[in-house]
Order: sequence, then structure tokens, then C-alpha cells
Amino acid sequence: MPYTITEACTACDQCIDACPIEAISVGDPIYVIDDTCCDFEECVVMCDDEAIVPVEEAW
Ligand code: SF4
Ligand code: SF4
Repeated sequence: MPYTITEACTACDQCIDACPIEAISVGDPIYVIDDTCCDFEECVVMCDDEAIVPVEEAW
């Protein structure tokens, strides 16, 4: 299940190195996850702001 980053993101930079396939990048103003995201969830536990959620729960 792919994940996405919501407006709760504070651009804290904690998640970007957690993704083993480098699917997270710095956006403007919030970070973004590209369509190569294929689960793992390493980034989810890194986010103190709970800004990373499954795509289907974001909309
Ligand atoms: S869920 Fe996994 S693949 Fe997707 S951005 Fe997070 S660490 Fe990367
Ligand atoms: S860890 Fe969370 S708040 Fe920090 S940059 Fe990543 S998504 Fe944004």
C-alpha cells in the first residue's frame, strides 16, 4: 500500500533517510512521497507529527 504525506508535515527531515528506496523528497513546503512507494513503513515510525498515512486514508 503506498503512503502519502499530509499537510501535517513540518518539514523536519526525519523521514527522508528512512526510506530504503529513496521515495521521499523535499517538497515545497511539505515533503512528498513519489509513486515508487511500496509499503515498508520505515518512514511512518520516524514521523513524530503523524503526517505519513496510507494514500487511501488521506483523501
Ligand atoms: S512507506 Fe516505505 S517505500 Fe513508502 S516512502 Fe515510506 S519507507 Fe519509503
Ligand atoms: S518526518 Fe513527518 S513531519 Fe518530518 S519531514 Fe517527514 S513527513 Fe514531514
